[in-house]
Amino acid sequence: MSAHLVCFNRDCRARFGITEVLYNCPKCGGLLEAAYEQPAPDPAQLKHSWRERRLSNAPLCQSGVWRYREMFPFLEDERHAVTLREGNTPLLDAPLAAEYGGLARITFKHQGFNPTGSFKDNGMTCGVAQARRLGMQRVACVSTGNTSASMAAYASAGGLEPLIFIPHGNISYGKLAQALEYGARTFQVEANFDQILALVRVLAERLGIYLLNSINPFRIEGQKSIVIEMMDQRDWRAPDWIVLPGGNLGNTSAFGKGLREMREIGLIDRLPRLAVIQAEGASPFYEYMRAAGRTPFRANEHPETLATAIKIGDPVSWPKAQFEIEQSNGVVERVTEQEIADAKAIIGKSGIGCEPASAATLAGIRKLTAAGAIDGNADVVAVLTGNVLKDPDYIFRYHTGQLKSPSGAAIEPHYGNQPVVVPNDPDRITELIG
Ligand SMILES: *Cc1c(COP(=O)(O)O)cnc(C)c1O
Ligand SMILES: [Zn+2]
Repeated sequence: MSAHLVCFNRDCRARFGITEVLYNCPKCGGLLEAAYEQPAPDPAQLKHSWRERRLSNAPLCQSGVWRYREMFPFLEDERHAVTLREGNTPLLDAPLAAEYGGLARITFKHQGFNPTGSFKDNGMTCGVAQARRLGMQRVACVSTGNTSASMAAYASAGGLEPLIFIPHGNISYGKLAQALEYGARTFQVEANFDQILALVRVLAERLGIYLLNSINPFRIEGQKSIVIEMMDQRDWRAPDWIVLPGGNLGNTSAFGKGLREMREIGLIDRLPRLAVIQAEGASPFYEYMRAAGRTPFRANEHPETLATAIKIGDPVSWPKAQFEIEQSNGVVERVTEQEIADAKAIIGKSGIGCEPASAATLAGIRKLTAAGAIDGNADVVAVLTGNVLKDPDYIFRYHTGQLKSPSGAAIEPHYGNQPVVVPNDPDRITELIG
């Protein structure tokens, strides 16, 4: 087996060693991806040993990522892997949400069941493993969100020092609180996001810090396990559609790559179509794809949405995501703040719950079925990317009618659930309960 890094740019395709510390192609600046040369594995044999591993008590067999390691064989020594038993996330039926989305049936793959509460764990376990195999002692990212929470946990669990860099005065407390608790050293820099990214690259070079930002190809490899596990749980029947929210578009890239590789090996016999949903105030990929190549990619300098996990104006992985949307005959849609908030309340009322960015999926499905782009009888899996407890403030405001969109417009609590103040009086309460 030989693993290497390849430039994603089809005009370049330069190859590099798997242990070279590179974040972009040194020749053309393009995105990098991991590639493998190995004899074609036997799909029946793989399915069999992956099932067997579920019965094992070995830590890497219990991981819903490392169980599938034949699909991303970049490590030479498995002892570099760090597992918190990530993955293993359920497929959940939700009749109420299906009806809301205009579907006969919907299944949610809930990545919020991960150790730090988001799908970032699927990728981070691989990113941190690579840092360890490279002999790095420190890892860093620029993020206040789920990436920092996840990186902090995996780095600390793996004996590395996590460093988080964030713009001064621009803090999202819920997720940053996790990062602090998991032991990350956190630096608030007086600069904007792009300036901090440039600064961290200088520091990475100088101090030998390994960067675990969204373009890290090993994180993408790990995130492939989300769709691999999904197919395993469905006994290898590919759905018609997989719907996911789009921010930096790393997950879209990972899903597309994972699905194509599964089809090449013969684990599945067709590609599901990908539907990527963005928030209206942060939808540069939607706008680019809608223009169908007539205009170059244009970043949004001031992305705005309450769904902070997809509040991304300049998504780094867009070239890969474009390729995967085209390969899968997919679509890109966008939804309003009101649509996200209502869809989120419906997912909650289904007994499932998720963070705002995740609810963009159901909001997008409702739009796509209404427009006839997704058939009402289609087999649809929507990926809920983050846990309901990531953003409790949003939830309370929605249900009590206090939620406002970034533009200041009120968001109507169409599915609001207000707490009721009552007197200490059993008769009165009996009457209210009815
Ligand atoms: C990171 C994240 C996203 C966006 O994923 P991308 O790979 O950046 O497109 C969506 N939802 C949640 C909860 C996230 O943490
Ligand atoms: Zn290149």
